Amino acid sequence: MPTKRVTAALRRVVMERARDHGEYCRIPGSFATQSFTVEHVAPREAGGETVLSNLAWACFGCNGHKHTATHGMDPDTNEAVTLFHPREQPWSHHFEWSADLTRILGKTPCGRATIEVLHLNRTGLVNLRRVLVAGGDHPPPELYASPADVWQHIAPMAGVNRELAPLLRMNPPRRPRAARSADRAPRYTGVPELPAGVWRAPGGLGRSRV
Ligand SMILES: [Zn+2]
Repeated sequence: MPTKRVTAALRRVVMERARDHGEYCRIPGSFATQSFTVEHVAPREAGGETVLSNLAWACFGCNGHKHTATHGMDPDTNEAVTLFHPREQPWSHHFEWSADLTRILGKTPCGRATIEVLHLNRTGLVNLRRVLVAGGDHPPPELYASPADVWQHIAPMAGVNRELAPLLRMNPPRRPRAARSADRAPRYTGVPELPAGVWRAPGGLGRSRV
């Protein structure tokens, strides 16, 4: 059974998978004044599990505005639609940047509703993006690691191995018994560089639900 608790190791993997960018507002964690948090895309209150396919890296602002919401209103049509799911939908399918790169624009009902519910163009975010643009640090590239890449590359480098298997719904690779103690707990030193080919363009994310 997957754990219900977000362990420190799980948090590291969620952060590295998102390359430490908020998966809604796309702000880099290194520029935020508060540390980011692991958020449940489908809220726990609605039965959302603590598994990697239901977890996203979010700033406190986005997480707080989203809270337990699963739906929002498309301001163009006044229809209720499901909110953006960072694990199942490419960000660029639903959102784009304004010409000056400081505001997020919705391309779909889902995108527009998510902007409203999460307040993705809060004054503080717009101002921060303005500063990041001036420094050449925005917008961030939209790149994802597949679940297999998370398992093979990110998890081991973040010092996590067998703990994640049930959360990825994968079987841990078999290893000779002698090798296990050696690779149980490598020291976490961050994951600045991953092997070529780990990060993929959003097309690899899977089918998109509009
Ligand atoms: Zn955010």
